[in-house]
Amino acid sequence: MSVEDFDVVVAGGGPGGSTVATLVAMQGHRVLLLEKEVFPRYQIGESLLPATVHGVCRMLGVADELAGAGFPIKRGGTFRWGPRPEPWTFHFGISAKMAGSTSHAYQVERARFDEILLNNAKSKGVVVREGCSVHDVVEDGERVTGAKYTDPDGNEREVSARFVIDASGNKSRLYSKVGGSRNYSEFFRSLALFGYFEGGKRLPEPVSGNILSVAFDNGWFWYIPLSDTLTSVGAVVRREDADKIQGDREKALNALIAECPLISEYLSNATRVTTGKYGELRVRKDYSYQQETYWRPGMVLVGDAACFVDPVFSSGVHLATYSALLAARSINSVLAGDLDEKTALNEFEARYRREYGVFYEF
Ligand SMILES: Cc1cc2nc3c(=O)[nH]c(=O)nc-3n(C[C@H](O)[C@H](O)[C@H](O)COP(=O)(O)OP(=O)(O)OC[C@H]3O[C@@H](n4cnc5c(N)ncnc54)[C@H](O)[C@@H]3O)c2cc1C
Repeated sequence: MSVEDFDVVVAGGGPGGSTVATLVAMQGHRVLLLEKEVFPRYQIGESLLPATVHGVCRMLGVADELAGAGFPIKRGGTFRWGPRPEPWTFHFGISAKMAGSTSHAYQVERARFDEILLNNAKSKGVVVREGCSVHDVVEDGERVTGAKYTDPDGNEREVSARFVIDASGNKSRLYSKVGGSRNYSEFFRSLALFGYFEGGKRLPEPVSGNILSVAFDNGWFWYIPLSDTLTSVGAVVRREDADKIQGDREKALNALIAECPLISEYLSNATRVTTGKYGELRVRKDYSYQQETYWRPGMVLVGDAACFVDPVFSSGVHLATYSALLAARSINSVLAGDLDEKTALNEFEARYRREYGVFYEF
């Protein structure tokens, strides 16, 4: 088997993978990104934060493309949460740091958003191969020196690299190659049941693009406008109430909606989408976890491969892209010969854990 050689190989083309790949390639390094699916593909995680769209996406060179993509503008979050019966709104613009033109984010259909980032990676020089599943790393003693993957024709391939980055999300097992264990939080242990509706009600202007989060006795709902008519709706329940979303998913979701008067009202004239990529009712265990270590010599974890907090904060894409930025910064410093690997990647891990901690403690 012939072995290709790159500076960096990235497993996974979600926001974390395409961000780190692009930022390393922009420094002139040779980067290969291997993605298991063929884009556009479905993904959950539609409500973004301003730091992603005005910070990382501007560095990637896609901020203007996103601004022109027609995604609903999210000016903050509207909550029916806590003792107050009326919904209350948190505006991003309330923070002096985000006032003005950066005081919003977007609600995105992830199939489109992720494809924009992946196409941008290609245009910045990343070699992108879709339909390629990474299943193992190549090791030389303590060091990871490459990756093994299956190509779209089912052939086994091997590629060598100075760094392998696992950005393959929370479903792949590749992260375990970094060593240590994945530690789950006792506090955030919930399950989500979600689907898509046409014709749901909108919040009044100027907050019609906000995420609406509504607490009810057994958990909370997200209600995310993805276009003028399409809405992402999900119920999150505690692990102890898992029986509420077992069995017939349609019945379960309808029963949960009936328990939540505000969501019932917003969906009173809506119909559930039953075909295409939004036609399925999906269930996700969204337990919070952190890997014991985020790197080993030659290997780095970014995004959900490293850690996940909880959907309540809309923090997943932010943590994926921010960790990708930190990883790219450290790897670029090592490849340029400016810093040794241990110093650079300890710095990456410390900053990433700090950002994770901000959301976890909040
Ligand atoms: C119920 C729920 C609701 C959420 N809501 C939000 C939200 O509103 N806002 C938000 O910001 N976040 C949200 N999240 C979190 C968000 O979905 C993730 O944090 C985010 O997608 C992580 O990005 P990533 O790039 O790390 O991984 P992913 O987006 O999962 O991308 C990983 C990519 O790797 C590919 N892949 C997998 N295995 C392999 C392999 N072996 N080889 C090659 N490629 C592989 C996958 O096909 C995928 O394209 C939510 C999560 C859940 C569970």
